[in-house]
Order: sequence, then C-alpha cells, then structure tokens
Amino acid sequence: MSKRIAIYPGTFDPITKGHLDIINRGRILFDTLIVAVANSSPKSPLFSVTERVDIIRNEVKKHKNIKVESFDGLLVNYAHEKKASTLLRGLRVISDFEYEFQMALTNRELAPDIETVFMMTAENYAHISSRFIRDIARLGGDLKSFVSPSVARALKKKNKK
Ligand code: ADP
Repeated sequence: MSKRIAIYPGTFDPITKGHLDIINRGRILFDTLIVAVANSSPKSPLFSVTERVDIIRNEVKKHKNIKVESFDGLLVNYAHEKKASTLLRGLRVISDFEYEFQMALTNRELAPDIETVFMMTAENYAHISSRFIRDIARLGGDLKSFVSPSVARALKKKNKK
C-alpha cells in the first residue's frame, strides 16, 4: 500500500500550542506529516522562514514521521512534488471557516486528486493565534499558556532587537 503523506501548511509565525495540537493529532492519521512553512507569505512575518522552520523542527524533533520544510509557490504543486494526497488544516472559530472553505475549493479545482482535511481545534486552544501572540510578546506579556518555553524565548529575543 502506498504511504499516506499529508501536508500541514501555514505561516507559523511563530508556531503555537494550537498548531502543535493539530500536528500531534494529525501525525497519528498519516504515515508522514510534512509541516510546510510558507516562504512567500503575504503576511510579512516577524520570523524569517529559516527561523520558523528551525523553531518548528525543535518542537517536533522526537517524532520521526514529522518533517518540516519551507515551500515556495503554489501549495498544490508542492503537494504533488511531495506525493502528498492530503492537505491538513486546523479550524478554530467560525471566522476561519470562510477563508478555509474558499481555499479548499480553490485547491480542489487546481488539483482534484488532493483532499483537504480539517481538524477542529482543542477547545482550550481555540482563541490562540500567532498574531495575538506576537502582540503579547511585543507588549511584554506572559506567553506560557500560548507557546512552548523555547518559542517564548525566541519571541523575547526578537523583541529585544
Ligand atoms: P496561514 O497563514 O496559512 O493561515 P497559520 O500559521 O496562521 O497559517 O495557520 C496554519 C493553520 O493552522 C491554519 O489552518 C489555521 O487555521 C490553523 N490554526 C492556527 N491556529 C490554530 C489553533 N489555535 N488551533 C487550531 N488550528 C489552528
């Protein structure tokens, strides 16, 4: 049987406990889960793509079936290149739905052989977003309920520069 490869794409600026929850539940469903960090993000990220990849690698290093890479260009092209059959996305609040729905339908039109699968956030992470975490870090707030200690350190360091 061919291996089930899934891609979990995102900006991950930085990776949060919400993302990690999706990764940890998602990795059980697939033989390989590739966390794919968008290089050409329109969001002008705080962390460079190399920094985001390194931070995530450090978070998931104990799991052999998780790979972390960056990608450029169209996600479906990258998925074909990786022989992935599935795109994994997380859903938090209703406001995520419209964007995720449009993106899933667009990707299906571009690549009907690739399925998008959604996982519902754990309720204790439903309010966590990278954007708010960046703001809290900038304003010197406590980050421990939102990110791992090493991500909190990376945010503090970034804000000192
Ligand atoms: P993007 O820029 O592609 O939206 P993000 O890094 O913001 O990238 O998010 C990547 C994916 O993770 C998206 O599907 C997003 O909905 C999901 N996600 C983000 N935060 C959470 C969370 N707290 N719980 C569950 N899913 C989340």
